Amino acid sequence: MNNFTRSGILFVVSAPSGAGKTTLCTNVRQTPDLVYSVSCTTRPIRPGEVDGEDYFFLSKADFKKRMKAGEMLETATVYGQFYGTPKGPVLEHLAAGRDVLLDIDVQGARQIRASRDAKIKEALADIFIMPPDLGELKRRLEGRATDSAKQIALRMEAAVEEMSDWKSYRYTILSSSMEEDLIKFRAIIRAERYLSRRLDLENVEA
Ligand code: 5GP
Repeated sequence: MNNFTRSGILFVVSAPSGAGKTTLCTNVRQTPDLVYSVSCTTRPIRPGEVDGEDYFFLSKADFKKRMKAGEMLETATVYGQFYGTPKGPVLEHLAAGRDVLLDIDVQGARQIRASRDAKIKEALADIFIMPPDLGELKRRLEGRATDSAKQIALRMEAAVEEMSDWKSYRYTILSSSMEEDLIKFRAIIRAERYLSRRLDLENVEA
């Protein structure tokens, strides 16, 4: 009987803040066959967030120490705070055939695309979530009520910059409703799992 085995896929998702990526990733995280990579950050913890679940909240000194020790797959500075993906767990999951989801910004995605590690290169499937338009993005940011007017202006500026990177990603989803975005996202995940180049054929005696 023929059977397929494969190594894990590294799904990298980026979007300007307010494009609905976090909600999308939260939905996808509930899928048991996908492991969410918990990032490290130096930004303060927000109400409702759990250390070790949403992020590993670190001091700047601790973050730098880990970075110097080569423990990060990629790092970025976003709004003056450090963010980074712990390397060890990602590599372990991929080697064990588990798919991993990274919710990271465009700087981080760029570093992963530029990685010289063949395993990372082969595993990568990157997805950009494009906001429907800037006006809608602004409305979504204002609707969150967590950011000040100054922060919103900063995020809008960053969004324009980030959006210019979309062509570098293998897939782009033009964000509409959460349900639609999720359907498209899941379609990408499915298709990536059937790529011939990811599969190994195993003949198991019936
Ligand atoms: P927030 O602080 O609102 O949770 O995230 C701010 C931005 O940082 C988001 O665009 C998010 O995707 C990005 N981010 C979160 N974790 C990481 C990470 O490990 N690496 C990089 N490069 N960006 C990250």
